[in-house]
Amino acid sequence: MDLLYKSTRSEKETVTASQAILKGLADDGGLFVPTSIPKLETNMSDLSEMTYQQVAYEVMRLFFTDFTEEELKSCIDKAYDAKFDTEEIAPIVKADGAYFLELFHGATIAFKDMALSILPHLLTTSAKKNQVKNEIIILTATSGDTGKAALAGFADVPGTKIIVFYPKDGVSPIQEKQMVTQKGDNTFVVGINGNFDDAQTGVKTMFGDKELEKEMEKAGYQFSSANSINIGRLIPQVVYYVYAYSRLLANEEICDGEKINVVVPTGNFGNILAAYYAKNMGLPIEKLICASNDNKVLYDFFATGEYNRNREFILTSSPSMDILISSNLERLIYKIAGSDSVKNQELMSSLSKTGNYEITAEMKAQLADFYGNYATEEETAQVISKIYEDTNYVIDTHTAVAAGVYMKYKMQTKDKTKSLVASTASPYKFTRSVMCAIDPEYDSMSDFELVDELSKISGVEVPQAIEDIRSAQILHDTVCEVNEMQSVVKKFLNM
Ligand SMILES: *Cc1c(COP(=O)(O)O)cnc(C)c1O
Repeated sequence: MDLLYKSTRSEKETVTASQAILKGLADDGGLFVPTSIPKLETNMSDLSEMTYQQVAYEVMRLFFTDFTEEELKSCIDKAYDAKFDTEEIAPIVKADGAYFLELFHGATIAFKDMALSILPHLLTTSAKKNQVKNEIIILTATSGDTGKAALAGFADVPGTKIIVFYPKDGVSPIQEKQMVTQKGDNTFVVGINGNFDDAQTGVKTMFGDKELEKEMEKAGYQFSSANSINIGRLIPQVVYYVYAYSRLLANEEICDGEKINVVVPTGNFGNILAAYYAKNMGLPIEKLICASNDNKVLYDFFATGEYNRNREFILTSSPSMDILISSNLERLIYKIAGSDSVKNQELMSSLSKTGNYEITAEMKAQLADFYGNYATEEETAQVISKIYEDTNYVIDTHTAVAAGVYMKYKMQTKDKTKSLVASTASPYKFTRSVMCAIDPEYDSMSDFELVDELSKISGVEVPQAIEDIRSAQILHDTVCEVNEMQSVVKKFLNM
């Protein structure tokens, strides 16, 4: 029997995993969720002897049941290969009383590689399984990180093209350089004279344009999205929690069955939701610790039961968490509403109409597994500096938000449970903020001087992803106005 997926907003549609991956979002605007969360079938001592790829198969086969063993293993092998700079794929570093799960060893040195390196293969396999003959065109608007990770994932994947729009003056110099030097005949990168919202709106408009869809169909193309609400991104993230647990067991850091906490720096709520799914599969997780930066909408939600996005948007040193609408939270809301799509739909329409909603006391009681807190900019910098001073380990700003919240949690609760911190980016990706947290004097150095200095003080080799952009050639130089986005897409596709 196949595990089916349904929308969080109605009871109408059930689809297979491959159909859910192809569609991304349900027709009613809801998110696809499995009709039940499968239990882990492989026992932990067996898992503790497996490679990352083998654990990935043991987890994903339970969710993607309409994929054959051969199809799924082929996707996994193409994703988790030498693009990662360590065979462990996601190594664990013990520092300052916690276990840091390093999710940044992929092509773009941030955790989005964990899912975006497999999504293209899941997507093209899903297209084949569903007799889709069109070439798949991925359209993405990016504020920096997702664009590069998606480009790296889709580069040279047969049957796909990827077009990324970014705000010309709205990303960091390193982020821009990473994107405009992207190799691959099927990759296109465009700077727009506008901000991220303009890029996002332009992309959404194209997705919803029925006329364009017809023209595309005629030319043998269809759009798809690499968005973080796709279950093809969510499920691969469940894998590394199971893997991490199995590694801690293999290294005799924990006993079989011992509960651990996980601490996750959160933006769109995808990464921590994956941990929640892992717990629901039977992984021994005690608390799910949700860490926010100054955009602490989730902290307030866990504290009060009210989600309220009507607040100032704050730019922080952990930009990938600067989010006021955490899209993936909808899957949790649906679950604690007793898998009631009507109730969930009510709350979500309240969110889009008034910018807020409030859950019932009964729903709130089911959030006992979660603990929420936040770290201010100052606290984030202090944590980077403290952990470096104490242990010589250098963490990035996003990971520091998590480590800071973990310190608060320990102080408040005196909980001694061993804890795993999701380390979501390499410090080399946010070098300036990281180095200035260690010593403000570093601010006078250039970006690449800082890179070399970071290597010197941490003893960690400069990652290939950074070396590559030092000397890489610029391969993309298209810049357009907001109202030209569609014509640029057509030009790329020879339409
Ligand atoms: C995207 C991102 C996050 C937030 O992850 P979500 O799944 O959106 O909660 C945290 N850290 C880094 C470095 C990221 O790129």
